[in-house]
Amino acid sequence: MKPYAFGVDVGGTTVKLGLFSQDGTVMDKWEIPTRTQNNGECVLPDIVASIQAKLAEKNIPAQEVEGIGIGVPGPVSSDFTVNKCVNLGWGVFNLKEKMNELLPEIPNVAAGNDANVATLGELWQGGGKGHQSAVMFTLGTGVGGGVVVDGNIVAGANGGAGEVGHMTVEPGETVPCACGKYGCLEQYASANGIVRMGKVMLSRCDKPSALREMETFNAKDICDLARGGEEMALDIVDRFGEYMGRAMSLVACTTDPDIFIIGGGMSRAGDVIMEAMLKYYRKYAFHVSSGTSIAVAQLGNDAGIYGCAKLIFG
Ligand code: ZN
Repeated sequence: MKPYAFGVDVGGTTVKLGLFSQDGTVMDKWEIPTRTQNNGECVLPDIVASIQAKLAEKNIPAQEVEGIGIGVPGPVSSDFTVNKCVNLGWGVFNLKEKMNELLPEIPNVAAGNDANVATLGELWQGGGKGHQSAVMFTLGTGVGGGVVVDGNIVAGANGGAGEVGHMTVEPGETVPCACGKYGCLEQYASANGIVRMGKVMLSRCDKPSALREMETFNAKDICDLARGGEEMALDIVDRFGEYMGRAMSLVACTTDPDIFIIGGGMSRAGDVIMEAMLKYYRKYAFHVSSGTSIAVAQLGNDAGIYGCAKLIFG
């Protein structure tokens, strides 16, 4: 194994890059803008130019680089064919072949979906360190996720594995999810979802709450009030925990991971939400899986570059 690898996390506005050594140390990390014009044709050449510049700056010959791992915001098949990244303007093409044309000096290229590689990164050097299998729930504007079993990303036959936000947890829901279905986890457990759910709960009861006095409120307001012991806010967080616990118990019945990793902006609320989801996970999980631990993600926006490097180091 050669000593270095690049991890490249391609986002809609910036590309994050990291130069890693084999032990998982990030030796340098930086960003370049994602130029999406002309169907994203500049994105890969820009990445190659940035990698070449970094090798020159560090005086590292390309022969000492084991490979380049790339995370993309869309489905990626096991032969590294990208199947439309709407954010980048990309159609269908083989990412490894394209990179090999642009940078033949580093032929080993691997790719994965960004949420899946972030899960791999958290498992390697973040909240799941020391474990082999994890399911991550990323609670941000929406709810995303990733599945890693025995160190391998599970992408699924259609690239749909890890879409934990679209498990139906409330069949009676009358408001549609962004995906068109009704009652998806994302509708209750994302930062937007908990606010929407909170408003519905407030409208259906008379319990006093500081939330009623606010012109608008966000997920942090709810979690802060719950942490302070406000009964209404605790009710909202409890309901959030019930949906999360139910979803996690369903996941455990299929993949039975070593650990659940909770990432995204909501995870910053810490204990107050972790306790709520753990309470219901313990209640709903099949007995053999009910002791599974739950950790907060630790790598933040760097999880992707770590996971990409891990794709290469294996
Ligand atoms: Zn949905």
